Amino acid sequence: MTNEWDAVIIGGGIAGLSAAQMLGRSRRRTLVIDAGEPRNRFAAHMHGVLGHDGKDPAELLEVGRAEARGYGVEFAAGSVAELVDEGPRIRVVRADGAVDTARAVIITTGVRDDLPDVPGLAEEWGRTVLHCPYCHGWEVADTRLAVLATSPMSLHQADLVRQLSDDVTVFTAAAEPLDEEAAVRLAARGVRIERAPVAQVRRAESGLVVTTNGGAEYGVDAIFTGGAPELDLAFAASFELARTEAPGDPLAVDMLGRTSHPRIFAAGNVTAPFANVPVAMGAGSMAGAGVNAALVAQDADAAVAARAAERNAAWEERYAAEDRFWTGRVNATVADVVRALPPGTALDVGAGEGGDAVWLAGNGWRVQGVDVSATAVRRASVFAQERGVDVDFRVGDGAASVDGTFDLVLTTFLHSWEPDFPRIRLLREAASRVAPGGHLLAVSHAAPPPWVSEMPAHAPVMRAPDEELALLGLDPQVWHPALVETRAREVTAPDGTAAHLDDGVLLLRRLE
Ligand SMILES: Cc1cc2nc3c(=O)[nH]c(=O)nc-3n(C[C@H](O)[C@H](O)[C@H](O)COP(=O)(O)OP(=O)(O)OC[C@H]3O[C@@H](n4cnc5c(N)ncnc54)[C@H](O)[C@@H]3O)c2cc1C
Repeated sequence: MTNEWDAVIIGGGIAGLSAAQMLGRSRRRTLVIDAGEPRNRFAAHMHGVLGHDGKDPAELLEVGRAEARGYGVEFAAGSVAELVDEGPRIRVVRADGAVDTARAVIITTGVRDDLPDVPGLAEEWGRTVLHCPYCHGWEVADTRLAVLATSPMSLHQADLVRQLSDDVTVFTAAAEPLDEEAAVRLAARGVRIERAPVAQVRRAESGLVVTTNGGAEYGVDAIFTGGAPELDLAFAASFELARTEAPGDPLAVDMLGRTSHPRIFAAGNVTAPFANVPVAMGAGSMAGAGVNAALVAQDADAAVAARAAERNAAWEERYAAEDRFWTGRVNATVADVVRALPPGTALDVGAGEGGDAVWLAGNGWRVQGVDVSATAVRRASVFAQERGVDVDFRVGDGAASVDGTFDLVLTTFLHSWEPDFPRIRLLREAASRVAPGGHLLAVSHAAPPPWVSEMPAHAPVMRAPDEELALLGLDPQVWHPALVETRAREVTAPDGTAAHLDDGVLLLRRLE
């Protein structure tokens, strides 16, 4: 059985739990799959974590799990073995074969510390063999300290450790040949330098004994050393996620934890091996928020698409309910404005039953018409045939549904009774289909008919063309307003008297 989640978090350490809390609080169906081996499990106390100083790291995770559970987050013990891209979802396969799918995945699997190959070191990891002076330095201050270098970078660690004690020995074999300046600086602060490789470390009655290859022995109370960070991301190999060049090749992410794949986020040590608990916590929290924000955007896009489909179906119903909707005659204002333009290619957006498009084709234009109603498109094609002109009518939602650019893009009375009709967006899309040197012509109802004394609520939005021009927000360096005016058109009112309608005319020329 496959479980479907909004988000699956792989790794339930500090970063994963912080992401989980944000997602749970955002009411996202979230699963945390955790192999249960946090990096700091070797240490009994943690430091440098404001408000939790000295706490057992396992206790903080326990509290974190309980908090996340309180917001509906679910947990599974196990190890993720494979991620598969299924387009809108990611398939998450565990080592035991269990399968989940999610709209987004957060990788918070941390790192493994690959310790220097020195017998006795691993047994003391997290106790007297320490990785970070900030996390565990205070507790061993003023005692006999050692630094086992793993690279030239370790000399920086030796500087930090010297801040804690006057009695510091640095084993520099892995940093040889030693940078002279660094050696001078260490010696100036009384740090002993031992260049021979370390052969072993063993517990003594008091502290540790470090033995070199040459047989020299040093009694110390604690050793600082950096394990090389190892990332195990074999489960995500097929995604070829971008890495950075930092030690361990961690995953490259932005501020919100986004990796190079839009549905995969990451946080914590897997993106920053140097990150301590507070940093991993902050990054996890941002990744949780990042996933929620991405899902919110997807949800809104899907809702907009569903509304558009509903609206388009309503248009189709409206056309299908009548034999013929419009007169088939060109709009007088359109004809008047277009006559002044040299014929070329044209796109009629919202072509309806084809009146304007067929007229354009009869006047030398090569025309494509697009409309959301299949019935309208069918009728328009028949109408073009009857008039002996060739027009390419298609079903589509606005200019965005059409490829290429045109010398003229026309929208005539692109209005709707729906309060959320995206007229300005449709006009912007139409503008994006105008070729350099071409025109966008929008003819609209600029005011309600004079015989309607009070417009009903939700009446189509009718704006003056200069208002629409401002709302379009087109680049004035690119667009020249050739006509921005209201024209009165003579009509017969429903009571048979003469009246006029105000047509808004917006003719914009694209300069480049
Ligand atoms: C000895 C030691 C002591 C430390 N002490 C301190 C300290 O005092 N203060 C401090 O601020 N920082 C300390 N740190 C650093 C701290 O451990 C990290 O900052 C922190 O663990 C990073 O959290 P994370 O969530 O990124 O990774 P982790 O805490 O390592 O959590 C990763 C989780 O993912 C799980 N996982 C891995 N692969 C999979 C998989 N394929 N499927 C499912 N789950 C998986 C792991 O089992 C683990 O539970 C210490 C580190 C060490 C090594």
